[in-house]
Amino acid sequence: MDKIAEDRLRAAGLRVTKHRICVLACLLEEARPLSHLDLIGLLREQKLDRVTVYRILALLKDSGLVHQVQGTDGIWRFCAHEDVEGKCPGGHPHLLCEVCGQMTCLSEQKLPHLDVPHDFKVTHKQMLILGICANCQKLQN
Ligand SMILES: [Zn+2]
Ligand SMILES: [Zn+2]
Ligand SMILES: [Zn+2]
Repeated sequence: MDKIAEDRLRAAGLRVTKHRICVLACLLEEARPLSHLDLIGLLREQKLDRVTVYRILALLKDSGLVHQVQGTDGIWRFCAHEDVEGKCPGGHPHLLCEVCGQMTCLSEQKLPHLDVPHDFKVTHKQMLILGICANCQKLQN
């Protein structure tokens, strides 16, 4: 995954650094939305500090390499996909498990189109489907 991450950084015109590769490769590998804390946990061995992770995620987001979704818990999560021509458009709904907080992309489906007043400035669009994931249902029984 490191190679793909590196190629994408380069294609987006970003300077390629070890830490940037780490973060993007991790998101590509997981292919589901991860929070800052998830990422810091997964990258424990690389010893990335919070500020670095925050900064890299903001950069990846601005470059359109990842998309961002906020859970009802107020936590932002970031996601990259392996299969979408190097970009992660993010214009799709997401599932959120209310028990474990795991989020999943319904990346094959589009968000419905909504007409908003022309004087309303849209900054973010998202649709969340709340429920209990298969794993948590098993644990409850
Ligand atoms: Zn995703
Ligand atoms: Zn769950
Ligand atoms: Zn998504």
